[in-house]
Amino acid sequence: MRAKESAGIGILNLQGGVAEHFDHLARLNIPAKLVKERGHLDGLAGLIIPGGESTCLGKLLRIVNLTEAIKERNRAGMNIWGTCAGAILIAARVVGQEPILGLMDITIERNGFGSQLASFHKWAFVPAVAGEPIPLTFIRAPKILAAGGDVKILLEQDGYIAAAESPAALATVFHPELTPSLAFHRYFVRKCGLGLKDASDTAGPTPGWEMTSWTSHSRLA
Ligand code: GLN
Repeated sequence: MRAKESAGIGILNLQGGVAEHFDHLARLNIPAKLVKERGHLDGLAGLIIPGGESTCLGKLLRIVNLTEAIKERNRAGMNIWGTCAGAILIAARVVGQEPILGLMDITIERNGFGSQLASFHKWAFVPAVAGEPIPLTFIRAPKILAAGGDVKILLEQDGYIAAAESPAALATVFHPELTPSLAFHRYFVRKCGLGLKDASDTAGPTPGWEMTSWTSHSRLA
């Protein structure tokens, strides 16, 4: 696949797990651009919307005037990956409330597993993304309840969809950036049409992640 744009991948830098995505892209030799205003979107092949708190992120998007700009750039071909709260932001339908960006034909339910205490780790095989099981971290995660139109389901388990993609969007209700695995970041970089030098999943500055307490992730509400 040919690189569509030259400015690489951006990470929405308003709230939530920005540094962890930045670190994972750096391990893939992809220097990410932090996005806080419209001009920062110029030339991006992809944008990551991190986990955090979706109501807060939605309000901040409006305050910095990025809501329409992100929609326009997505329509023009910029890929978007929403992790957890980010997946809520890109969903076309959010149970009980208005959608925020509405870029992907999915129905999502916030806090689908219950409270913060219902957060968990698990492993799953996602054949489109990696040849071996991947560690998944769910933090007060949403559930994708339905997907339509051009959406392909990447991981469905226990009656809900955990990962899905459309031609210009990727949604994961879990947090690959909080595990040592680079598989989903590699997948998104390739989806954006960018070249990739290979990088090990085990090397890198996030050892001991399994020991990390949930309280240290409390900003991912
Ligand atoms: N529960 C949060 C929300 O509804 C999402 C949590 C997360 O991103 N880890 O916005």
